[in-house]
Amino acid sequence: MKKLTLSLLALVIHTVCQAQHFDVIPLGIYGGEQEDNLSAYLVGAPEENSFLSLDAGTVNTGIRKAIEFKSLSGTEEDILKNQIKGYFISHGHLDHLAGLIINSPADSKKNIFAIPPVIQILQNHYFITDTWINFADQGQKPILGKYHYNELQTGTEIPVEQTSLFLTGYELSHVNPYKSSAALVRYDNHYLLYLGDTGADRIEKSNQLEQLWKNIAPLIKKGQLNTILIEVSFPNSQPEHLLFGHLTPKLLVEELNQLKEKTGQKDLKNLHIVVTHRKPTKDNPEIIKKELLENNPLQVQYIFPEQGKKISLP
Ligand SMILES: [Zn+2]
Ligand SMILES: [Zn+2]
Repeated sequence: MKKLTLSLLALVIHTVCQAQHFDVIPLGIYGGEQEDNLSAYLVGAPEENSFLSLDAGTVNTGIRKAIEFKSLSGTEEDILKNQIKGYFISHGHLDHLAGLIINSPADSKKNIFAIPPVIQILQNHYFITDTWINFADQGQKPILGKYHYNELQTGTEIPVEQTSLFLTGYELSHVNPYKSSAALVRYDNHYLLYLGDTGADRIEKSNQLEQLWKNIAPLIKKGQLNTILIEVSFPNSQPEHLLFGHLTPKLLVEELNQLKEKTGQKDLKNLHIVVTHRKPTKDNPEIIKKELLENNPLQVQYIFPEQGKKISLP
């Protein structure tokens, strides 16, 4: 009997340790062209139905797809207004924020999280009368005040109100000196890293990724971070002078090697890399997938997201 209790206990502990640490639901996955399927990923604590949207390229179509796939429950209106509690906007390009702007009249009061240069772009170019209406709480008058801007200071963690999540921003280089950013999301003592568009340090002549790897390496070593959402926009055939601040499969491996320098190889084997922002031109998405799977020296686990389908994470 005692033995049975012990094995039961072991099973429970095992199950708890295996439990998914985050719910991640892609509302859009591509890096351009398909305006109904652009970068946006809902992240939440498991089963909490309270989400932070990591970028907001496509919102409404993604919600409808996610309802269809039973990844989200509730009506479109309820999900937009009540389940999405805030937006992290990585940078000022339209494919990362068009869904936020277009859906703003139907949305509810909530927070926008971004680094200062991105808030400037929202304030100066999108939430203005010439292009839309100022739904935010700073900038051009009339100010409707639906969205509250929350500035992310590099390396400083802040809570995502009305969720169990915490958020830390880091700067990225996206055609230097243009700034993009990454979000390190924490729930309890587990982390998930989302990167907006980024070039490789070598091409960008920058050290932003090196700094980021330095910051997250200890979390990977402690087993607290095993999911990274990162872009691979172009296949390897894209010439380096035409990358426009993006990664290819080869450049991702180059950067992962930099990360490995800081963690050691054995720790990267548990790393799940969700590949975001593939440019959907012709059969690029398939070529990128093939190139990543065929040349995977660090043996990371690649995940190719689908719009509306909840991602299974370790
Ligand atoms: Zn983009
Ligand atoms: Zn971009």
